[in-house]
Amino acid sequence: MTSFANTDGILITTRLIDTIVANKQYLSDIDGLIGDGDHGINMSKGFKKTAERLDGGSDSLSSSFKILSTVLMDEIGGAMGPLYGSLFRAMFRASKECDDIDEKVFSEMLNAALEKVRELGEAEVGDKTLIDALVPAVEAFDMAIADQQSFSAALDAMKSAAEVGRDSTKDMVAKKGRASRLGERSRGVLDAGATSCCLILSSMADSMQQLIGT
Ligand code: ADP
Ligand code: MG
Repeated sequence: MTSFANTDGILITTRLIDTIVANKQYLSDIDGLIGDGDHGINMSKGFKKTAERLDGGSDSLSSSFKILSTVLMDEIGGAMGPLYGSLFRAMFRASKECDDIDEKVFSEMLNAALEKVRELGEAEVGDKTLIDALVPAVEAFDMAIADQQSFSAALDAMKSAAEVGRDSTKDMVAKKGRASRLGERSRGVLDAGATSCCLILSSMADSMQQLIGT
């Protein structure tokens, strides 16, 4: 098992914030094609507010995810505030007792997050939502670990699967959320939530790889 200290994991959150803020326009542009164009604005607002509340000296990966989830749930509207709020809340809960985050803990974090998002959004793979990036990413991570691959290799597998999942939404017709009102006309563009989910998972993986030194 390879691991990094939960207290060092604050780096993951600060990088996540940078990633979402840097992609604000891109995410809103995607949402604008079949939604209302606010996805990047909402996400960026929530992640920026979180940055203001973080205490770089004492916050850990878990405590920073708790702050992020509270901001997203309580202060950010749209479909994604509650969905990403519960994703990060589940990750906080699955890791809060752990001094070190290894592949087993991260798998528990991923699976807890997936369960909560599924419970709340009731979306399935193929509905053109963030579930289309999250489900294959979690499966790929777990399969790599079951296959005795390293933490870092499993993170690579997770990233690739999230990208393939994100891209798969292009040909889908939206079945959930605002875009579902467009029916067939929602086909042909990426889903905004799947795109942000892929950015989030990739950023997390990159930071974790740096923390575990590979
Ligand atoms: P809104 O649709 O309220 O404007 P956002 O623009 O922030 O919210 O987010 C839109 C994204 O929300 C979609 O791209 C999709 O991925 C995701 N989404 C919508 N409904 C659901 C759901 N029921 N389950 C999972 N994800 C969903
Ligand atoms: Mg929107």
